[in-house]
Amino acid sequence: SIPVGFFGGIGSASRKGILVKGSNFLEALNDLKYIVVDKTGTLTKGKFELNEIKPANGFQEAQLLESAAYAEAYSTHPIADSIRERYDQTIQKDRITAVNEIPGHGIEAEISGERVLAGNARLMERFSIDYTKAQDSGTLVYVAVNETYMGHLLISDTIKEDSAEGIKKLKKSGIEHIIMLTGDSKKIGEDVAEKLGITEVYTELLPHEKVDALEDILSRKEKNERVAFVGDGINDTPVLARSDIGIAMGGLGSDAAIEAADVVIMDDKIPKIASALKVAKNTRGIVW
Ligand code: ADP
Ligand code: MG
Repeated sequence: SIPVGFFGGIGSASRKGILVKGSNFLEALNDLKYIVVDKTGTLTKGKFELNEIKPANGFQEAQLLESAAYAEAYSTHPIADSIRERYDQTIQKDRITAVNEIPGHGIEAEISGERVLAGNARLMERFSIDYTKAQDSGTLVYVAVNETYMGHLLISDTIKEDSAEGIKKLKKSGIEHIIMLTGDSKKIGEDVAEKLGITEVYTELLPHEKVDALEDILSRKEKNERVAFVGDGINDTPVLARSDIGIAMGGLGSDAAIEAADVVIMDDKIPKIASALKVAKNTRGIVW
């Protein structure tokens, strides 16, 4: 028979907006020693804003923005939303004849017979584009058309108001290792981590390298310790599935993330993870 206390625990978690998909996960939260957190959409709002449009010599701002908006026309990445939001004209979708979204890099698209690239430095390097590395602090989207560099866009995300408080609470709850993973640059990754009091960071990870990073962390733990991964599901669903306890953001998160997760935080707030730990602890108290 299943101890009644477990049902009570799941119920009380759900009243706090925390969906726990089984008493075994609630129990496992008591052995949590590692919390691995994705940056974009989890610690940050995942809502980007386009701050600057910087065309290269010979190009106009409007041209650069248009190429980027067309390339990003079909992408669901929050970076793409910010670019489309700024472009105030209708995108004529019949001009877009091919789109290839390369995870952790950006977009390769065919627009009116021209090849447009929009993405990070890694994308430019992959296609051997002779581009100018920008020094701005923020997420950079470089754009090239038919192998010619057009310039870059500067985009920024903001840290959620309660992320710092959430991390503090997790440390107070006895979580010894809080580790951030991101596909974003070393500069941004380390900057966000520092602002949140996170001392261990893996940056510039491709989606499959996030799984490798998690494997690395899993190999460090003791047998009775558990590792949770917290993410929004954009490029990190495999990591959610591989962790001992996958925690997804339910508001911003994708359906795939919610499906792959063991615990869902309905309002996307990091302090709720500490609340879940508290419920787990109290529940164990009742059961034993
Ligand atoms: P994170 O790990 O921060 O959640 P992602 O794995 O989603 O980030 O993406 C990593 C990086 O790949 C982004 O910071 C961006 O530079 C680039 N990128 C991914 N998708 C796109 C896109 N649609 N347009 C432009 N750049 C992109
Ligand atoms: Mg992400």
